[in-house]
Amino acid sequence: MTNNPLLTDQPLPRFSQIQPEHVEPALNQVLTDNRESLETLLSNMRNESPNFENAILPLEELGDRLGRVWGPVSHLHSVKNTPELRDAYNQCLPALSRYQTEMAQNTELCALYQQVADHLGDDEAARSLVQNTLRDFRLSGVDLPEDKKSRFKALIEQLTQLGAKFEQNILDSMSGWSLLETDLDNLAGLPATVLEQASKNASDAGEEGWRFELDQPTYISFITHAENRSLRQKFYRAWVTRASDCADDPQFDNTQVINQILKLRHEAADLIGFHHYAEYSLASKMADSVEEVQEFLGQLGVQTKAHAEEELAQLEAFAGNTLEAWDIAFWSEKLREERYSVSDEQLRPYFPADRVFKGLCDVAHKLYGINLNYREEVDTWHPEVRFYELSQDDGTIIGGFYTDLYARQHKRSGAWMDECVCRKNIDGTLVTPVAHLVCNFAAPTENTPSLLTHSDVVTLFHEFGHTLHHLLTRIDYPSVAGINGVPWDAVELPSQFMENFAWEPEVLRLLSGHYQTDEPLPDMLIDKLQSSRIFQAGLQMLRQLEFALFDLALHAKQGEESTDVYAVLAEVRQRVAVIKQPEWNRFAHSFSHIFGGGYAAGYYSYKWAEVLAADAWSAFAESGIFDAEVANRFRQEILEIGGTRKISAAFEAFRGRPPHVEPLLIQSGIAVQVTS
Ligand code: ZN
Repeated sequence: MTNNPLLTDQPLPRFSQIQPEHVEPALNQVLTDNRESLETLLSNMRNESPNFENAILPLEELGDRLGRVWGPVSHLHSVKNTPELRDAYNQCLPALSRYQTEMAQNTELCALYQQVADHLGDDEAARSLVQNTLRDFRLSGVDLPEDKKSRFKALIEQLTQLGAKFEQNILDSMSGWSLLETDLDNLAGLPATVLEQASKNASDAGEEGWRFELDQPTYISFITHAENRSLRQKFYRAWVTRASDCADDPQFDNTQVINQILKLRHEAADLIGFHHYAEYSLASKMADSVEEVQEFLGQLGVQTKAHAEEELAQLEAFAGNTLEAWDIAFWSEKLREERYSVSDEQLRPYFPADRVFKGLCDVAHKLYGINLNYREEVDTWHPEVRFYELSQDDGTIIGGFYTDLYARQHKRSGAWMDECVCRKNIDGTLVTPVAHLVCNFAAPTENTPSLLTHSDVVTLFHEFGHTLHHLLTRIDYPSVAGINGVPWDAVELPSQFMENFAWEPEVLRLLSGHYQTDEPLPDMLIDKLQSSRIFQAGLQMLRQLEFALFDLALHAKQGEESTDVYAVLAEVRQRVAVIKQPEWNRFAHSFSHIFGGGYAAGYYSYKWAEVLAADAWSAFAESGIFDAEVANRFRQEILEIGGTRKISAAFEAFRGRPPHVEPLLIQSGIAVQVTS
């Protein structure tokens, strides 16, 4: 087993040597070792008095040990996904989840944390660690009597299955629908690539013409570009009735699944002792109560509604008639083109990836006095991957990160930051943190470097914000270091904050250099880019508020047998929506975030973190975006603290007051109304 590269003590994973056959033995080994260590620890503690050092720190080591084995596997599963690796990965999932449940439901372990909690000193990090863990124990039902405990477990399992069923119904409903068109005139406006695919679909099916399937990119192309209004309506209808009673084929109707999910969530929350699921969900978040979130969203709605109504009126004036739901994207795109006439393709040549990355390094240095040094000798999983060491101006090593920037086969789409090594300092040896920064930009070709769109640049800054959050931590215990232990509704603060730099003229000049002439982005394009940022910001804001309020209202109901979800939605729309939706719109039936994913009673998190980020940014905007004192305070109060303080207190320490919503409204071009 010593030859297994997943089981070494090396500071960095030996990525190039990890093979699928290493995965299962390594995981089994670490799970066995951890179970043994846990048993020994628990038995020792029966005869000793447990404290943070002798009980909790060894448990931190166990978690870290598992992370060091499984982290590289799950990373490779995302970025180098061969069938063999996928098999090995899937093979391991049941054992891993069994282990996790075992830990979460271990009564004796929970009691150990409780004993330690009663005798904690004033180490803030230690206190947060223990309290977070106890809270999570409670939320997984550890202290319930046996019968209720097993009921809770059964509910969670059922909910997992229902979530999967919800997603499956959407997929089945989508794949059962298509639209065949034989007259090219009806398809005017659609991009060539979409037509090409549709023509191929038709010929594959032995048909004449163009066959469109119901996937997201095709739907978005159709609704945005197709000039034929009735075809747009047809596509729109198919999209918003997916997996519902109103779908052309209603056999994949999610109505029962939704009702079941809401009912079981309520029961689960009730078992743990909460009034409703929303309260359960908020127990681990930054927001204190459902009322606080409702008030927050409501306030944004009041401030935004008139602005959004004006945007809609302008759009209708531009279109020359009243618009239906299936007209909005089409006319918006036309209006956007006319107003700003700046396209991605125009901007790309100014943003070669290497140049942008160099600019990003300059920004990091100006802000925090940190240097990113390329370390060519570090072993990676692909020749395009680079490793950078992060050091302070005085030479102190802070940590490092891998960049894997380009799209390629067998790599998951999207962009993300993931932890590779957590900062740890528990036995006198400091382990510095390491991150993965992954994007999917267009790869360089033989003659042209990788050229980014502006939205790619914003993405890179976003992920770099998460990366700094992970790397700049000064917390010594892995489970509350970096992004660990940071509540879901606050974790996007550093990333969304960082995006703002990518919109600043000063930074845009620093980042850009035409790949042929090295000319920075011209001022005229910078102006256009900046003004396009607030295009229809009001309408977009209201849409997010509608989703968030709807999600919260659904989960804050008490005790009803069943919920009429569309009555709830109608009530919310009455308050915050300005675009009229047809009566057959079945949006909830495909609202995956809350029924299939992890956002239940948490959809508001997007706006919540955005408000924090915009307000933090306003402090920089007030003092100059590279003001050393403000940057230093942001670093100390927000980026370094991990999950060791209440974020509301941390924010206040940084900003000198609680967060305000005004900076986000101003940033979105929405005039702030003074209320008395
Ligand atoms: Zn993010």
